[in-house]
Amino acid sequence: MFADLHLHSHFSDGTYAPEEIVAHGARFGLAALALTDHDSVEGCARMAVACEAAGIEFIPGAELTAEQAGNELHLLGYFLDTHNTKLFAELTKFQTVRQNRIREMVAQLNKLNVPLSADAVFALANCRSPGRPHVARALVNAGLCRSLDEAFERFLKKNRPAWVPKLKMSALDAIELIHQAGGLAVMAHPGLNRMDEIIPELVDAGLDGIECFHTKHSPATAARYLALAAKFQLLVTGGSDCHGLSKGKPLIGTVKLDYAYVEKLKVARRKAAEPLNR
Ligand SMILES: [Zn+2]
Ligand SMILES: [Zn+2]
Repeated sequence: MFADLHLHSHFSDGTYAPEEIVAHGARFGLAALALTDHDSVEGCARMAVACEAAGIEFIPGAELTAEQAGNELHLLGYFLDTHNTKLFAELTKFQTVRQNRIREMVAQLNKLNVPLSADAVFALANCRSPGRPHVARALVNAGLCRSLDEAFERFLKKNRPAWVPKLKMSALDAIELIHQAGGLAVMAHPGLNRMDEIIPELVDAGLDGIECFHTKHSPATAARYLALAAKFQLLVTGGSDCHGLSKGKPLIGTVKLDYAYVEKLKVARRKAAEPLNR
C-alpha cells in the first residue's frame, strides 16, 4: 500500500480540482492522499468527500510558506483541523498578503509596459491563494510571454524586474500554528532549500517530521534525509508535489510513500492529542 502526501489543487496553484486528484490517486491504486495547498485548506472539504467515495484515506493538510534566517522554507501541516479559528485567521491574513503581492507584481509589469491586469490574474487563479504561477499563466494566456518558463525568466524569478518579496511567518510560528490546529509539522522538500543547519532549531521548536521522498529528491538526497530523520527521531513523509500536468503527465503516482510511514504519522497524531504530551 502506498500514499502521496503532497498534492496541490486549484485552490492554490494546482490545476486539478480535488475530485480529479482523487481520480488519479484511484487510478494509481493509492491508499491515502493528503491535500497540501499553499496557505489554504479550502479544498479539503471537497477532497474528503471524493476520497470517501473512492475508498481512499484522506489527510487534510496545507503547505505553509515560512522563513527562517532570511531563507524561505515550506512547512507541511498534516491532520489539520480545518475549522480551527486561529488557523483560519492566519491563513486569511496570508491569503490577503498573497493578493496584495499579485497587485504589486502587476504594477511592476505595467511599469515595464507589459499590459496585464490584476483582475485577469485573479480571474484565472479563481482562489484565495494566488501566486506567481498564476501571473505566469496569465502572461502566457494574454500572449505576453510564450511560455511559463519565459515568464519566470524574464519577470517573476527572484530578483527579476517584476519579482516582489513575500511577507512570511517565521518557521517557528508556522510550527506552532500547525500544532495548535491539531496537526503535525513537517519540513517540506529540504533538498530544495539546502538549509539543513536549521533543522536542529526546528526540532527544538517541535518539528515532527521531514519530507524525505519528493519528486525533486534524488535517491541520495532521500537517503540523506532518512538518516537525518533517524538522528532526530523525526517522522518521514513523501509526496509528488503534483500541481497538475507536468510535461504532459501528472506527477501524482510518481512518488509512492510506503503506507507504513502513514501508520507512524497516525500514531504520532494520537500521541499529540493526549493532553500531557504537548
Ligand atoms: Zn513547497
Ligand atoms: Zn508543494
